[in-house]
Amino acid sequence: MDIVFLGTSSGGGPSESRNCSSLVCDMLADHSLWMVDCAEGTTRQFALQPHNVKPSLRIQKISKIFITHMHADHVMGLVPLLRNVLFPPVASNSIYAAPNHPKRRIELYGPAGLRTFVRQIMKMTLTRTSDEYVVHELLREDDQVTPCISVTDNTSITDTSVMHSSEIAGSDIQASPDGLWRAITQGRGRMSEIVVDAGPILHRDPCLGYVFSEVRFPSRKIVILGDTYDPSPIIPLCNNPSPSLLIHEATDSHISHHADPTGKLSRRTEKDVLEKALSRGHSVPEMAGAFAKLIGARDLVLNHIGGRFPAPRNPRDAPRQKIMRDIENNAARAWGSGRRVTAAYDYMRVHVPFDVGNPIPSSSTETVHGNQDMVQLNMSISAQASAPVEEAEGSQDAVEGSASFASTSKITDLTVTSGGHHPDARAGPSRYSVRGNNKRHRR
Ligand SMILES: [Zn+2]
Ligand SMILES: [Zn+2]
Repeated sequence: MDIVFLGTSSGGGPSESRNCSSLVCDMLADHSLWMVDCAEGTTRQFALQPHNVKPSLRIQKISKIFITHMHADHVMGLVPLLRNVLFPPVASNSIYAAPNHPKRRIELYGPAGLRTFVRQIMKMTLTRTSDEYVVHELLREDDQVTPCISVTDNTSITDTSVMHSSEIAGSDIQASPDGLWRAITQGRGRMSEIVVDAGPILHRDPCLGYVFSEVRFPSRKIVILGDTYDPSPIIPLCNNPSPSLLIHEATDSHISHHADPTGKLSRRTEKDVLEKALSRGHSVPEMAGAFAKLIGARDLVLNHIGGRFPAPRNPRDAPRQKIMRDIENNAARAWGSGRRVTAAYDYMRVHVPFDVGNPIPSSSTETVHGNQDMVQLNMSISAQASAPVEEAEGSQDAVEGSASFASTSKITDLTVTSGGHHPDARAGPSRYSVRGNNKRHRR
């Protein structure tokens, strides 16, 4: 199970080194891809993949897209991507016409408004496709249902109740009384059935986090959050078992003078940075680390990185590397116990190993050879299995306590080593070796 980040910028992007939010995961290990968020330019990110990153991602393999919220930096790539993936219609007199060809279908999941957004842009741009799409909306108590009326010859394209010609009527999935959406969809993975749950998280507008769980061994769980300043409402979905991986935003960050002697970034105080992030509905790395601790996550990746923090161009891009390590350390200090945190960059690939719960002998550490951008997330398992999971009220600390994350705990298991990188790589492929594995991987 690998996750590849296609865009890691906050809404201030895209920038020279980062596209805005999107990632894909081969959740079912059957070559299909499930996507979370789809910023402008996501289609092009498939074309720009560094050539030596294998296996390369194929846009045609996308089968499900999960949208966290309707902000432009998370959805503006949807219609261009659908145009690309849902083939254009073939003329009936063409030699390629295959009337019995089974139609492919892409399924989209997201908050209220997603159905109208996709439907109206598809209609207004006169987009025609041979394959189909369906939008399932996750509705809160106050949300309106968006009707799905079939198109007829005399319906107006501006009528938002009328479906696009390639659209299939989707489900209106109401939240449970506890505000969560359970088992919105599922799929048969190689090891186990995968079930997807969703929960609300606090941002300045309605926003979701998605939880992807294997229902049987190895019971991996991946929690992918949209933009947030407090994800505590989703905590009930993050317990039993604790997540193998948490992907949490860290839009802004205090930077130490050590990492930025120029003062350009480091002159902003922790308090100023925190207040600004919260006022915009976002998080600092300490909040991500605190939430990882709260839910007992095994690994943490920081995503949705602000424009002040461009991704390193290569492993020797010391100034940018230093800044990113500083951001990771801010999260790791709040997490405690010398945990390892990774700040995402475009095309970073994260492997979620399936040996959760069992100590990993060094000889079985999984490595994808030839994959330069692999981030090895195997680590000593025993510690996190016993990480305490506190009750929901503890999450207040994730917001209010952030300013006082001045822990002195030292990060000892984070070793950054330089490695080769592809000349096309726009991001800094940092290399991690992990304490607990006798063998250190240098790639
Ligand atoms: Zn955003
Ligand atoms: Zn947002």
